[in-house]
Amino acid sequence: MNSAAPTVTDIVLIGGGHAHVHVLVSLAMRPLPGLRVTLIARDLATPYSGMLPGVIAGLYRAEQAHIDLTRLAAVTGTRLIHAQANGLDRAAKRVLLVGLPPVAYDLVSIDVGIEPSLSAIDGAAAHAIAVKPIGSFLKKIDALIARACAPDGPRKIVAIGGGAGGVELLLSLRTRLIADSRAAGLDAGAFSFTLVTDGEILATHNDRVRHAFRRAFAARGMNLRENRRVRAITADTVVLEGGETLAADAVLVTTDAAAPDWFRGTGLELDGKGFLAVGPTLQSTNDADVFAAGDCAALIASPREKAGVYAVRAGPPLADGLHRRARGLQPDEWRPQRRHLALISTGERYAVASCGLFKAEGRWLWTLKDWIDRRWMRMYQDTDALARRLAGK
Ligand SMILES: Cc1cc2nc3c(=O)[nH]c(=O)nc-3n(C[C@H](O)[C@H](O)[C@H](O)COP(=O)(O)OP(=O)(O)OC[C@H]3O[C@@H](n4cnc5c(N)ncnc54)[C@H](O)[C@@H]3O)c2cc1C
Repeated sequence: MNSAAPTVTDIVLIGGGHAHVHVLVSLAMRPLPGLRVTLIARDLATPYSGMLPGVIAGLYRAEQAHIDLTRLAAVTGTRLIHAQANGLDRAAKRVLLVGLPPVAYDLVSIDVGIEPSLSAIDGAAAHAIAVKPIGSFLKKIDALIARACAPDGPRKIVAIGGGAGGVELLLSLRTRLIADSRAAGLDAGAFSFTLVTDGEILATHNDRVRHAFRRAFAARGMNLRENRRVRAITADTVVLEGGETLAADAVLVTTDAAAPDWFRGTGLELDGKGFLAVGPTLQSTNDADVFAAGDCAALIASPREKAGVYAVRAGPPLADGLHRRARGLQPDEWRPQRRHLALISTGERYAVASCGLFKAEGRWLWTLKDWIDRRWMRMYQDTDALARRLAGK
């Protein structure tokens, strides 16, 4: 990417999320003289959401579900800055960093995901485990699994939030705890698993998919509390609206997440929830030199749910838009598909497919999901193959 020509355009990417890993590769494939690409990343290993439940269930090793940004940056000729961005000085066109000098940009793109929103539930910040950021979540899950495999460890596990993330997470954690506790000689039957959600589970999916997961919970002896709102979490209970309490040794929160606080200081237009407002070209609605994609962005003209699949699909139009703008051209518009095929696992090598009113399930769907996920990861993990592609071999 970096050519011998003097740098004339600096593209700075903040966050190594699902869209930006594609941008690194795509820009390296079609280098422009004088273009320098910089990635500012808080975490050097970026997790791939599609494989996370599999990591928790013990079906994948953690490194299989992570992209090594140091290697990817090296192979794509990207300047990597291991730092956390906490602001934009748009007048001076600089990205502000925690503890490091600012970084100048001509074009900047933001793909930093979301932050946990624990403030909505009393006591959640003190007593619950939030799924975001995923890096620290995986460490906390490992610690929870280790504690649960001790004779006096946590047994009553409660998850709050009935989206695909929460459902898959609890099913996967159950698979893992049953296997690991048995291996440790403990009574796996002593565990209880409860999911609480304020609406129906999998609210954005069809009835048949919901029914399949209700069956999956029942078949595993797991408790499902739908249409129940959590009011508070204490050291050993989850308190529901109306006063009912559930005993809980460990609580996982996968409910709505919030936008990073620092967006508010940028002067960029935000949607009602504080996410970066972008138009169909993924450019900020009030600054054409700022792009955003993934969970942290809100597509004003075509709102979509926050899911890894949309962050992945935003990668190619984002890369094209940055490339065109760097050449002084107008970026093309992108309209993400309204429907996508979701493959949601039951915590084992079995998955349910959901798309509009369509539903199917079976082991073969997990095999398909595994194939899709591994194929996507290979593009960014197999840096030797990538280096050969970039060298035109
Ligand atoms: C358990 C679980 C399972 C899920 N399963 C699925 C699934 O099967 N399918 C699906 O479509 N979605 C799934 N999701 C949702 C999915 O995780 C998100 O939609 C996806 O991660 C969004 O990608 P992103 O690129 O926007 O952000 P992220 O993947 O969160 O990436 C953001 C990156 O930015 C970095 N970063 C953050 N802040 C800064 C900063 N200030 N400075 C520099 N770097 C920063 C972070 O380190 C991170 O690497 C799941 C989520 C969870 C929690």
